[in-house]
Amino acid sequence: MKSPLEAPEKQIAEETSATSGRRGDTDSSRGEPEKPVPAVIDTSKMAKGQREALELAEAARDPLEDRGSFASNLFVGRYDFDRIYPYPAQSAEDRAAGENFLRKLENYLREHVDPDEIDRTGEIPPENFKGLAEIGAFGIKVPKKYGGLGLSQCNYGRAAVLLGSWDGNVAALVSAHQSIGVAQPLLLFGTEEQKQKYLPRVAGGEISAFALTEVHAGSDPATLSLKAEPTADGSEFVLNGEKLWCTNGVKAGVLVVMARTPSKLVGGKERKQITAFIVDVDTPGLEITYRCRFMGLRALYNAVVKFTNVHIPRENIIFKEGAGLKVALTTLNAGRLTLPAACVGLSKRLLEISRKWAGERIQWGVPIGKHAAIAGKIAEMAGNVFAMEAMTFLTSSLLDRKAGDLRIETAMCKMWATEMTWRIADDAMQVRGGRGYETAQSLAGRGEPPIAVERFLRDCRVNTIFEGSSEIMRLFIAREALDPHLKVGGAIFNTQLPMSERAKAVFTSGKFYAGWYPRQWMPNGARKIDNLHEILRSHVDYAARTSKRLARGLFHAMARFGPKLDREQLLLSRFVGIATELFAISATCSYAQWLLGQDKPADEVLALADYFCRSSRMRINNHFAGAHRNVDRRGYQLTQDLLASKHAMLRDGIV
Ligand SMILES: Cc1cc2nc3c(=O)[nH]c(=O)nc-3n(C[C@H](O)[C@H](O)[C@H](O)COP(=O)(O)OP(=O)(O)OC[C@H]3O[C@@H](n4cnc5c(N)ncnc54)[C@H](O)[C@@H]3O)c2cc1C
Repeated sequence: MKSPLEAPEKQIAEETSATSGRRGDTDSSRGEPEKPVPAVIDTSKMAKGQREALELAEAARDPLEDRGSFASNLFVGRYDFDRIYPYPAQSAEDRAAGENFLRKLENYLREHVDPDEIDRTGEIPPENFKGLAEIGAFGIKVPKKYGGLGLSQCNYGRAAVLLGSWDGNVAALVSAHQSIGVAQPLLLFGTEEQKQKYLPRVAGGEISAFALTEVHAGSDPATLSLKAEPTADGSEFVLNGEKLWCTNGVKAGVLVVMARTPSKLVGGKERKQITAFIVDVDTPGLEITYRCRFMGLRALYNAVVKFTNVHIPRENIIFKEGAGLKVALTTLNAGRLTLPAACVGLSKRLLEISRKWAGERIQWGVPIGKHAAIAGKIAEMAGNVFAMEAMTFLTSSLLDRKAGDLRIETAMCKMWATEMTWRIADDAMQVRGGRGYETAQSLAGRGEPPIAVERFLRDCRVNTIFEGSSEIMRLFIAREALDPHLKVGGAIFNTQLPMSERAKAVFTSGKFYAGWYPRQWMPNGARKIDNLHEILRSHVDYAARTSKRLARGLFHAMARFGPKLDREQLLLSRFVGIATELFAISATCSYAQWLLGQDKPADEVLALADYFCRSSRMRINNHFAGAHRNVDRRGYQLTQDLLASKHAMLRDGIV
């Protein structure tokens, strides 16, 4: 087994992680140790709300394995290409296992789902719910013994590609139901009784939903206030409060609800407890009080759910009391992969629309695709679609192979694919010109093909907001990226620790960095890539070298900012951006080499991969340049002034 921190450093990391928490706190309900906040992060100088949010998130966080993952190791200058190369393609047997369902789904969508009508009316017809249930679309990953299709993540991803390419509303219905709704947390954490009771119901088409967000608790679940009080005999919990924006809530029969249970004392301090419950919607006291409507996804059955003295039996707790945030975050770690797969489908569709139109539409005497400004957009779309598919299905396949902790890979896929898809939709609208902005109905009304670019654009915008906004994904990835360094050196700056422990950390981290840092200057590239095509090899070597440059940059930033680095969100986001692009380049090259072995046209595969890698390298250069020279400080101050009502002239002259 490899470790991101090689031999002597690994030992140091083990020593320091052994000191990373006070012992003796127990979860009284089970007699198990309650995890204190790792002492690698000093929360003593934080504002109360920030401290609580961070402590809760840290308590819910599972530590990364010492050997890290391909993507997490990019931040420590360790380039383990052999973990993703040869490309872990879906096996022929697994592909065949999904074929029958995927063919049925494609036919069903084509013949029975009318996306423009759904968008116009804001309703998915009841017969679509029935038809989708009949082909098994609500239990794709649920094992056969619980009434589902028992298909793999790769096949589920392929279904999401089909759905995303056709209709965002149906894609959201199916995805929220099983990626974050009842099925996923039960598959991960449910008891056998819970699985037997609920999985056949949801796999058969009883809709499920995930209720975490509240009016005051969006990205920050620490402020969650829906209460779950135990009854005197402890057999039930009584839920009171309200949930906001619960997708599928309007149609759901069963929900996963995150609620606050009584706080506990951990290390002498009160620790908020969040617990996940399975809640039947027909339980007395539960009401759907409002249906929310949005810019896009107009047929989303998204609800405000009100709880008034809703009695839920203790056996409906998922995992255990107080572990609700862990349930939610772990559910999202894997569930998050559905969105990038749906983005692959939508982006392919938008590329196809753009490609056709750029060839057909003549302006200034030639097809618009001959004008470099339009050609540039289409090339970007093509490269990004190729990379998006490579990253998403590489990660899906690793998930199927249970290849370790993939939270960083899934977060990178979600963040990168949703942002790229928005850009692709924007470019597709530009390529289509006025027709991109016109609705499908209006186009049809005057005799033109009803190509709904504006609907696709409206529908995909929310992808960078829900299931972890892009900003939160960047913070999440940055936290994991800093973990090996925090374990080694975090204690130095932690004023909550005794001086003796901090002094020891100075010594151990000095020893660690004396070995690690010089290695980050060594020019060696990737190993074991002789059998890669030479075009791909040059990009993979670049990625290996650049991961060391990234590790050095991160180290310098830590040396410069110390414990205040977490406040440098823009700087960290550049490092996250670099690592994500390196992951994309690596996945793309591995995928391209695999395609070459599948007798795909070599010139086409290499042209796409090479274009993408070159374009990605330009983005990486921009990130590095921005890390050295930027206007972050001034920008921050300017915003604080604006928040304090300065610069009144910017408000002059408007209605
Ligand atoms: C259509 C739709 C469907 C949804 N479905 C569900 C669902 O099924 N279940 C559910 O529980 N929720 C759902 N949500 C809620 C969704 O997950 C939240 O909107 C999301 O978590 C962001 O929360 P917020 O909107 O309150 O934004 P806020 O948390 O108020 O954030 C506003 C902005 O500030 C940024 N921000 C916040 N904190 C930080 C920080 N620390 N650092 C930097 N930037 C920060 C955010 O990224 C965002 O850009 C849905 C929302 C929508 C719009």
